[in-house]
Amino acid sequence: MKNTNSINITDLTRQYARFGISEPVVRFGEEILASLQERFRQIDETAEYNQLKVTLAMQECRVSEACLLGTTGYGYNDLGRDTLEQVYASLFHTEDALVRPQITCGTHALALALMSNLRPGDELLSPVGKPYDTLEEVIGIRPSKGSLKEYGISYRQVDLLPDGSFDYEGIRAALSERTKLVTIQRSKGYQTRPTLSVAKIGELIRFIKEIRPDVLCMVDNCYGEFVETIEPTDVGADMVVGSLIKNPGGGLAPIGGYIAGRKECVENAAYRLTSPGLGKEVGASLGVLSSFYQGLFLAPIVTASALKGAVFAANIYERIGFPVVPNGKESRHDIIQAVTFGSPEGVIAFCQGIQAAASVDSFVTPEPWDMPGYDSKVIMAAGAFVSGSSIELSADGPIKPPYAVYFQGGLTFPHAKLGILKTLQNLMDQGVVTTDFHKTEHGNN
Ligand SMILES: *Cc1c(COP(=O)(O)O)cnc(C)c1O
Repeated sequence: MKNTNSINITDLTRQYARFGISEPVVRFGEEILASLQERFRQIDETAEYNQLKVTLAMQECRVSEACLLGTTGYGYNDLGRDTLEQVYASLFHTEDALVRPQITCGTHALALALMSNLRPGDELLSPVGKPYDTLEEVIGIRPSKGSLKEYGISYRQVDLLPDGSFDYEGIRAALSERTKLVTIQRSKGYQTRPTLSVAKIGELIRFIKEIRPDVLCMVDNCYGEFVETIEPTDVGADMVVGSLIKNPGGGLAPIGGYIAGRKECVENAAYRLTSPGLGKEVGASLGVLSSFYQGLFLAPIVTASALKGAVFAANIYERIGFPVVPNGKESRHDIIQAVTFGSPEGVIAFCQGIQAAASVDSFVTPEPWDMPGYDSKVIMAAGAFVSGSSIELSADGPIKPPYAVYFQGGLTFPHAKLGILKTLQNLMDQGVVTTDFHKTEHGNN
């Protein structure tokens, strides 16, 4: 029987035409999409599992209407804040958690976890290569005021092997008497290395703990939350750290970061965030709690939407012949999609396409710019309801070789799809891509 609700491709094409997207691009998108149904079904299954996990955590912690209200001033006895921290601890299967609007971003959450759990004379080890750009100044790899280095905390790094695997012998040799904390970045960040699966992180932690059971293992969980059914704390991590304007904020949290982990780690972080002696007892939640709760509730589905967008983008650009990480078929461990264009023009056209698809600020044109914390010019496309939120449709690319763009987010899949089609149209309009779609089955151009 004919489904009278179904929209034919002509209706869709007409709608896309209003965004300046041509019919061949729309049809190419439909063809790619048709090949992704099984991948999307698996993503939906993970989202379903995680929706149950979040709901169960909220029920177990007896989240009530009163929890959605906030406090002002010192924020003593903030029921909603304290309950939300229990919800995070329950979700991540940790002893405790710190979830605060006073943690301003992901970098701040990571800096806080490091600075509060390391002491002068300690050494920090990254066994997974160079950390995220902004952490270079936190650690002191690039000199900065107030870096760990200024406080006498040294840093060692063991790079991944060329095939992306762990350099176990290098890591064994780098673990010294002074190693106090190991930082493991789950997501690739601004690199083209593979993202680490939670299982792989588990193997690494097991190896480290066999040699040095007392070393703390922290995972930078940014962009990884809810992509799998388990989290790094399920495989031995002592702490996970992330940003609420990425996955766990579900697009609703207007600010915030979290640290979930062992009681002592979280306590150290709380004493550093507020003050020795005060710790978690202070810190008014003001009016943000309902968005923290509701965002967390939506996070599994929002993450799934972003993942579908990433898979769609990978398959579109792979088919046209650009290197993509992860590739179109690979399993996913974060929401970031890297596409290497090999030229500044490609990166710029892509980001301008994402901006043009935004609901907010679609009329502005992003340009490469010097950003604090980054060592090259960066172009960022973000027309977000929450400024800078990268769980919303967004893309950024440092203007340096290999001229890769990092695409992420999309609160809904249809919006992510619009963004990706718009990038392709933009690349074609600017002559960076010259594809005859009839020949795309055989690869490039
Ligand atoms: C985004 C991100 C950070 C930093 O978070 P900000 O909120 O941008 O400060 C750190 N590590 C990784 C892997 C990230 O993706």
